[in-house]
Amino acid sequence: MKECDTPTFRLATEQFEHAADMLKLDSNLRERLRLPQRAVVVSIPTRMDDGSVQVFTGYRVQHDSALGPTKGGIRYHPDVNLGEVAALAMWMTWKCALVNLPYGGAKGGVRCNPRTMSRNELQRMTRRYTSEFVSVIGPDKDIPAPDVGTNAQTMAWMMDTYSQQRGYAVPGVVTGKPIVIGGSRGREEATGLGVVTVALEALDMLKVPVEDATVVVQGFGNVGFHAARTFHEKGAKVVAVSQSTGGIYNTDGLDIHALMRHQSEGRLLETFPNTTPVTNQELLELDCTVLVPAALSEQITKKNVRHIKCKILVEAANGPTTLEADLILEKKGVMVIPDILANSGGVIVSYFEWVQDVQKYFWEEQDIRERLHRILKSAFHRTMEFSRNNGISMRTAALMRGIDTVAQAHLARGLYP
Ligand code: NAD
Repeated sequence: MKECDTPTFRLATEQFEHAADMLKLDSNLRERLRLPQRAVVVSIPTRMDDGSVQVFTGYRVQHDSALGPTKGGIRYHPDVNLGEVAALAMWMTWKCALVNLPYGGAKGGVRCNPRTMSRNELQRMTRRYTSEFVSVIGPDKDIPAPDVGTNAQTMAWMMDTYSQQRGYAVPGVVTGKPIVIGGSRGREEATGLGVVTVALEALDMLKVPVEDATVVVQGFGNVGFHAARTFHEKGAKVVAVSQSTGGIYNTDGLDIHALMRHQSEGRLLETFPNTTPVTNQELLELDCTVLVPAALSEQITKKNVRHIKCKILVEAANGPTTLEADLILEKKGVMVIPDILANSGGVIVSYFEWVQDVQKYFWEEQDIRERLHRILKSAFHRTMEFSRNNGISMRTAALMRGIDTVAQAHLARGLYP
């Protein structure tokens, strides 16, 4: 599929080819799994507030459904393209399989700049996007969730649009919705919490007490904020955070709760007192124990990897490290906790939300946190053990385990017709 040929898709496929080589994966299966099962591109004409009509391009890619309905977020960003969405969908397939969820992988997106659009414009665009995909998504087919530039409100509009077309409420069609319409307790913070859960296991292995750890977080959105807040609450020193325009730094640590109040009063991150401004590039190169890229892909590349000083890299974002950079990090002895493991907390609690919606029976927050913790801790140690036993990186170990599970499902189901 020529249209998919972008840097992010190449990264995802090269990772796949490497893990498939190691697995000696059946060549027919390999041919099938390197491309999506289905990719749909739509035009989304949207009435803007000034009366004009703007036509956005929307995508939904379902990479593989051998394990169950496909699952994956919706991204609103000016750089969204088919290759990026296809790469993210492929990573969702391996991620769901790695943590034993009965889901395949998907992803969606709209090429737009949500920061320059009004609430009404976003609502109209989201509803039209959803209606274009009514026959493609569904609680037993393909279940969207939030990603960069989307949130619980976006999911509420999607759920309502889908439900209006069906004639009854279908909460299980999306996850990450507000609790009042069938969302789950603990979903909003799940990805950030999961990032910290695996980072704490890694610190423990390296015998670094959490109080001695310094943390740098790139991206202060849903994932980055909840990761920074949880690190701060656990006693680690969060020394720098950033958003797309740049970041702030203080070697003595940032009070993340105070920073949250600062921002909720409408003030800019950059004006937080007693901090030094840093660019996003400088931030990645700061001295720290744990580096958490929690924004976009391809941030750690052959250009900056030699200046990366962290001991542990926890990939909260999807695909933040290029292939060349990955090899250099391995040689430098940096422990890399790969994206498909590190950020899987989001899809795990999304699974809990879907189960609750389908059963119409809702769980306590404590129950959700305990189940999430159990699944992540066990996935971390299984992946670490596999990596050590086979002398391979944690990324290759995670990919091999995920891909192998999907391959087993394909072999068991056989080829139709
Ligand atoms: P978000 O839109 O809530 O936040 C993104 C943050 O990144 C914002 O602070 C934005 O200012 C910042 N940012 C954007 N471009 C940047 C750049 N060039 N440099 C530095 N910062 C930049 O998105 P999110 O939901 O927090 O997702 C962040 C990452 O985590 C993405 O890679 C996403 O795919 C991944 N992820 C999210 C979830 C989830 O549950 N939301 C689950 C798994 C993985």
